[in-house]
Amino acid sequence: MKIAIIGAGVVGVASAYSLAQRGHEVHVYDRRSGVASDTSSSTAGLIAPGHSYAWASPSAPLMLVRSMAGAQTSIRVVPRVDIPLLRWGTRFLRECTPSRSRSNTLSKLALAKYSQQLMEQIAVREELQYWKTDGGVLYLYRDEKELGKAVGNSRLLADHGRVQEVLSSSEIPLVDPALASSRAEFAGAIHDRSDGTGDPHRFSLGLAASCERLGVTFHLGEAVDRVETDGASVDSLVVGARRVRADGYVLAAGASSPLLARNSGFRLPVYPAKGYTLTARVKNAERAPTVGGIDERTLVAWSRFGDKVRMSATAEFVGYDRSQSPKDFKGIIAAGNELFPDALDWDTAEYRTGLRPMTPDGPPLIGRGRLDNLYFNTGHGHVGWTMACGSAQMLCDIVDGLDPDLDPSPYSPIQSRRH
Ligand SMILES: Cc1cc2nc3c(=O)[nH]c(=O)nc-3n(C[C@H](O)[C@H](O)[C@H](O)COP(=O)(O)OP(=O)(O)OC[C@H]3O[C@@H](n4cnc5c(N)ncnc54)[C@H](O)[C@@H]3O)c2cc1C
Repeated sequence: MKIAIIGAGVVGVASAYSLAQRGHEVHVYDRRSGVASDTSSSTAGLIAPGHSYAWASPSAPLMLVRSMAGAQTSIRVVPRVDIPLLRWGTRFLRECTPSRSRSNTLSKLALAKYSQQLMEQIAVREELQYWKTDGGVLYLYRDEKELGKAVGNSRLLADHGRVQEVLSSSEIPLVDPALASSRAEFAGAIHDRSDGTGDPHRFSLGLAASCERLGVTFHLGEAVDRVETDGASVDSLVVGARRVRADGYVLAAGASSPLLARNSGFRLPVYPAKGYTLTARVKNAERAPTVGGIDERTLVAWSRFGDKVRMSATAEFVGYDRSQSPKDFKGIIAAGNELFPDALDWDTAEYRTGLRPMTPDGPPLIGRGRLDNLYFNTGHGHVGWTMACGSAQMLCDIVDGLDPDLDPSPYSPIQSRRH
């Protein structure tokens, strides 16, 4: 089949690879001039099934109320009239019951674990270099009560195959010696030993080269303006003055997916959650992290990428605003100075924003919608790097009419709760 993919982020590139491996003729369109140069270049780098918790949880509604009242919460919503956000938020709140939260977490976990395995197989097969680390990820808690709550929650993941080890504060530097110099006081940590880190941009560049060897054509710098449909199927993509026709179409445009879906008659339940990321050079190797982590107080997350460290934070529901100013990064730098004093050269820092493509419930949208030749692979939220390879494989199986290795129903775009 000839397949046109919209989006060359880590999800689009992984989809192209899976489809090309099955012998399809694949064309990938991206408005940017390089692969994985949008949100896939803004991740914290965690490959973290151990971080699969659904954001829609019983504690989320109170956090949203506090955020709207001006508190500095990890998820921030500025009160304003935004109909898509209101619609998305209503669904999000419906997903905050204990049972929905549990089931959404388990759906994310299953896909994340599957994806991590496939990512490792692909990386070995294609000899990809992406600053992979496999010392696990540290989830650090400064407060005894928060740690106790997290340990309780972690049982759900431990019951489903994760190795979640609880560490005392003195055991933390045994996992990452850099934290011995930390100025922050920790009550303890959870160490998911099977998590890891890596750079999705580097991974995607390598995988795109493998794709090209398999015959995939990347049309970079070419924005898809519209998806033309006749109501039953997609007729073509409008790319500037051209019309692109294929047998099947994959929408993998990250947070922009709902904008393109809308003109083909779909209201895709995906809303952007803006995050901030910086990458700085290491100036003192002994003090810089070697293991990925999250400081659960500030929700700053980090990974080591060779001689640099990537750090990211914040989830703001402010639509498609990508603006940034130095004050947006103050919290990350303050956390960096506290956690890893004198480790990084802030003068070398590169600053970015990214838009996480969030579904209200959490699991991404993978498979066919109401049109017979339009497939979705989008809505991966805060764990799209982790889930990219598994989502791509599931999509490919669905395109080929095969049974995916995982039950695809929790990710189906045509479930009523998703429309
Ligand atoms: C601050 C931050 C930290 C994160 N940390 C992690 C982490 O530690 N671990 C993890 O697993 N995930 C993390 N994520 C989430 C992860 O980055 C995303 O889920 C993932 O990058 C989504 O990939 P994607 O390919 O769907 O989207 P994108 O990378 O956004 O790619 C979509 C592509 O579609 C293209 N596009 C859009 N519209 C059009 C159009 N009309 N025509 C042509 N092309 C178009 C864009 O140019 C873009 O290249 C983080 C995200 C953020 C913002």
